[in-house]
Amino acid sequence: MKQTYFTPGPAELYPTIYQHLQTAMDEQLGSISHRSQKFRDIYKFTDEQLRTLLNVPETHGIFFTGSASEVWERILFNCVEHESFHLVNGSFSKKFYDYANALHKYAHVFEKPFGEGFDANEIEVPEYAELICLTHNETSSGVQTRTQDIHKIKRKYAKKLVVVDMVSSAPYPDLDYSLVDSAFFSVQKAFGMPAGLGVWIASQTCLEKAERLQKYDSMTVGAHHTLPTLWSHYKTFETPATPNVLFIYLLGKIAEDLNKIGIDTIRKQTEEKARMLYKFLDDSADYTPFVQQERHRSQTVIVANTQKPSADVISNAKQAGMVVGTGYGKFKDSQIRIANFPATSFVQVEALIKQLSK
Ligand SMILES: *Cc1c(COP(=O)(O)O)cnc(C)c1O
Repeated sequence: MKQTYFTPGPAELYPTIYQHLQTAMDEQLGSISHRSQKFRDIYKFTDEQLRTLLNVPETHGIFFTGSASEVWERILFNCVEHESFHLVNGSFSKKFYDYANALHKYAHVFEKPFGEGFDANEIEVPEYAELICLTHNETSSGVQTRTQDIHKIKRKYAKKLVVVDMVSSAPYPDLDYSLVDSAFFSVQKAFGMPAGLGVWIASQTCLEKAERLQKYDSMTVGAHHTLPTLWSHYKTFETPATPNVLFIYLLGKIAEDLNKIGIDTIRKQTEEKARMLYKFLDDSADYTPFVQQERHRSQTVIVANTQKPSADVISNAKQAGMVVGTGYGKFKDSQIRIANFPATSFVQVEALIKQLSK
């Protein structure tokens, strides 16, 4: 049976992808050179569509990586000499912090229990921290950091760099890139593509920092795809190594489709579908929303406690043609996670609610 995937990545594919994939094959994109004008036009198109969709200004470049977790390493290498600072409240934000330790950075952490979120006024960033690492949407627990709080943190610590992991929410968060130095995502979540491409947005200020660090004898910013290398190729819409041309093409076309709908509409639809799901969880005797504080509840990954073992809920949904995510880690048996990405329609969300209420 054909399933509708409500899993928070890999997720339901965006409906137009079949047609774009067909076009890509017809145009033989799998065989073109990444040093050709044809490829440069594809990169440029995707860059333009993402700029429109996410409101990215000229001060920031847009680069392609293998995945989002690769960007954790790249940004730490390129933008931290000694110290980073991390807000941690779940598995993904924790891994970002772990990467910093693995790269022998002095990583500061402010940690909250699973399911709790952060407010700007409680954040104290240590004096020598150079990079503030934030996760807009903690996919493991369904907690969101509000964009106004992210912006407030940067206003308070204007000299420090701010990077936002928006992997399981982009294009939903309306980030102000005059207050965000870097942000990144991968395509298998809210962009509704198969996995295999990361997108890294980084500012001129990040580039300058990387160039400064590169001059120090004892310092490495990495060998593979340093920010200065990515940026110098980006000037002509090229990449240092042979990239995933097919996915860069598909991402541009899906971003174009989302732009045709309009980002404001996409955001409103996301909020409306989230409202339906949370209302159902609030009213139901069989489920409760996991995240207590409404202001911290994710709009794109909804986490619910289940009365019944979650395996039963998941298997019943599957028989009805819907795949929902398991709880994360120790919540595997008592929670479900529901992705609310642009690829799933109101009708599909209604069908899921009907199934869960059985
Ligand atoms: C999925 C996810 C990642 C990792 O993305 P990959 O594409 O698997 O590298 C990082 N951060 C968050 C918040 C995620 O949801």
